Amino acid sequence: MSFEALGLPPSLVTILEREKYDKPYPIQEQAIPEILNGKDVLGIAQTGSGKTASYVLPVIARLKGLDKPKDRKPDVLVLVPTRELAEQVKDVFNLFERGFEHDVKTMAIYGGVSINPQMKSLFGVSIIVATPGRLLDLVDSNAVHLDKVQILILDEADKLLNMGFKDEMNRIFDMLPKKRQNLLFSATLSEKLDGLNTVLLQNPITVKVNTEEWNIEQINQISYSIDEDKKGPFLRYLIKSKEMQQVLVFTASTYKADNVADKLRKNGIDARAIHGKKNQNSRNQALKDFKEGRIRVLVATDLLARGIDIEFLPHVINYELPRSPKDYVHRIGRTGRAEASGEAISLITPEDEHHFKIIQKKMKIKVDRIDGNDIEIGKS
Ligand code: AMP
Repeated sequence: MSFEALGLPPSLVTILEREKYDKPYPIQEQAIPEILNGKDVLGIAQTGSGKTASYVLPVIARLKGLDKPKDRKPDVLVLVPTRELAEQVKDVFNLFERGFEHDVKTMAIYGGVSINPQMKSLFGVSIIVATPGRLLDLVDSNAVHLDKVQILILDEADKLLNMGFKDEMNRIFDMLPKKRQNLLFSATLSEKLDGLNTVLLQNPITVKVNTEEWNIEQINQISYSIDEDKKGPFLRYLIKSKEMQQVLVFTASTYKADNVADKLRKNGIDARAIHGKKNQNSRNQALKDFKEGRIRVLVATDLLARGIDIEFLPHVINYELPRSPKDYVHRIGRTGRAEASGEAISLITPEDEHHFKIIQKKMKIKVDRIDGNDIEIGKS
């Protein structure tokens, strides 16, 4: 099946060729024709499956027949749970808008950065990608109006619900025109999501891919037993001996993330920490620098474990284990994305043994173990 056969206009197909999207991923094959037909869609898919393009492409195609707004009334609203995801989704829209025959403008809006530039830029925007809180602030100050939205998309709807945005989302839904197309994407189905799905979607088409499984299969997972006091030098040894050029290291706390990044830098390895206590601009910058290869090691808390797509990330290291088994999967899922294989390494201290057993049991995986204390690491 080709993108053209899914019903996308030739100008978009040309852009897809430019971006080396050779053939549609399964979620795209299923979702694109339905969205082009104006159907409501419930998509069960997570980051890594190609779900963003599965709605971005048909949405851009559907805007072709419409005039660009001459006011502050966007045609499309995408709600997302985090600022990083807002930026990332906006980038995908921008990628396909560039060179498209119809003039479409997309803007990301989220909190944690100054509101004034966002207020000024909202004129003439067709597509808004927003976190709920900041969107409502902008609505309340008349910088944007939602009464012309024709397509509503909830991306990572399960997370939107878990993060307690429900009241804000309900306020937003009340402002939207009754007649509109609704698209809801979620990594998992839950009762809460079912509730949302019944109020929001009309005769939806359900599309589903299970990426978690194939992701896990193609990730090479290894664990090393290591004593707590040897972890720092051992991390440096791994990065150097395996010649890792781009590695995402996870810690359990913001303090530890800063601490590990500092130590790496002191030892001549280019590293930066990213976590919830950093301001938004430095988070964006660190992620951008890492994605574009200007930083070798990004040390992160679980803030980054979900939703963020870093293309072809070859290595993930759990410097400290996450509390929940699900987060283990989300973390290691940062590698082995989009049909590329990757390596996930976990450092296991004697205190972690029991917890790591539980993770493996819950996730039905068995991770190979090497004794790191026995390895001669030299001076790293
Ligand atoms: P997503 O699940 O939307 O975060 O997408 C995961 C990654 O797959 C992104 O890096 C996309 O650029 C890439 N991708 C999505 N669809 C395709 C495709 N049909 N061909 C090649 N790469 C794709």
